[in-house]
Parts: sequence; C-alpha cells; structure tokens
Amino acid sequence: MDCIFCKIVKGELPSKKVFESEQIVAFHDIQHDAPVHILFIPKKHIPSMNDITAEDADAISEIHLAIKKVAKELDIHESGYRIVNNCGNDGGQLIPHLHYHLLGGDKLGPLNAK
Ligand code: 5GP
Ligand code: ZN
Repeated sequence: MDCIFCKIVKGELPSKKVFESEQIVAFHDIQHDAPVHILFIPKKHIPSMNDITAEDADAISEIHLAIKKVAKELDIHESGYRIVNNCGNDGGQLIPHLHYHLLGGDKLGPLNAK
C-alpha cells in the first residue's frame, strides 16, 4: 500500500521514533508546528477517525497512555500540551492514516485557528 505512515511502520521510510509497541508507534513530525511535535499512529492502516471500530479500541486507548508517557519523557507534562486529530478535508487531514499530533513546548495559539 502506498501509504507514508505504513512505510514508516514497516521501516521502509526513516523516522525518529520515540515509542513503539505491538500495536502503535510514535515519531517526530517531519515539520515542527511547535517545539515538540510528535505523531502517534496505530500500526494498522486505519484511514481516518471515521474508520475506527470497536476492534481498534485497544490501540486507541494505548495511544492515550503513550501520549502521557512521551509527554513526561519530553518534559512537557507539567507545562501542558495539546492533542490534535485532523479528520477529512475540512479537518485538514493530509495523510490518510489515522494519527494524533502531540504539540507542546510553547504556549499554543487558539484552537479554532483557520
Ligand atoms: P495531517 O495534516 O494529516 O493531520 O498531518 C500530517 C502530518 O504528517 C504533518 O504534520 C506532516 O508534517 C507529517 N508528515 C508528512 N510526511 C511525513 C514523513 O514522511 N515523516 C514524518 N515524520 N512526518 C510526516
Ligand atoms: Zn497507512
């Protein structure tokens, strides 16, 4: 499948990984929208939030626990951070493989920025 994030999962494309388990992986975003910008993805190719099912609940849950762990390791757990999922065209989703952005390390702007 011609999916950038599936290729990262398989190691066919390089990435700076910060967390990996059987079901999920987290790595630095190639561009930094904040001093800390990490992407968390399920290893399974799920195109978007619209496509998650009950069978994905473990992976989605694990992503939340990994976010907490990585935020602590990167020392932004007390200063604070933001989790973003862009879904579909209006949501600004560019890569059609479910992912959550962890943004932090600076005071972030308003959530409803266009
Ligand atoms: P989206 O707009 O789909 O929510 O976010 C996709 C994110 O993937 C963007 O922040 C973009 O910088 C990041 N990205 C795109 N291609 C690559 C890549 O090859 N490697 C990494 N690490 N990040 C990527
Ligand atoms: Zn994929």
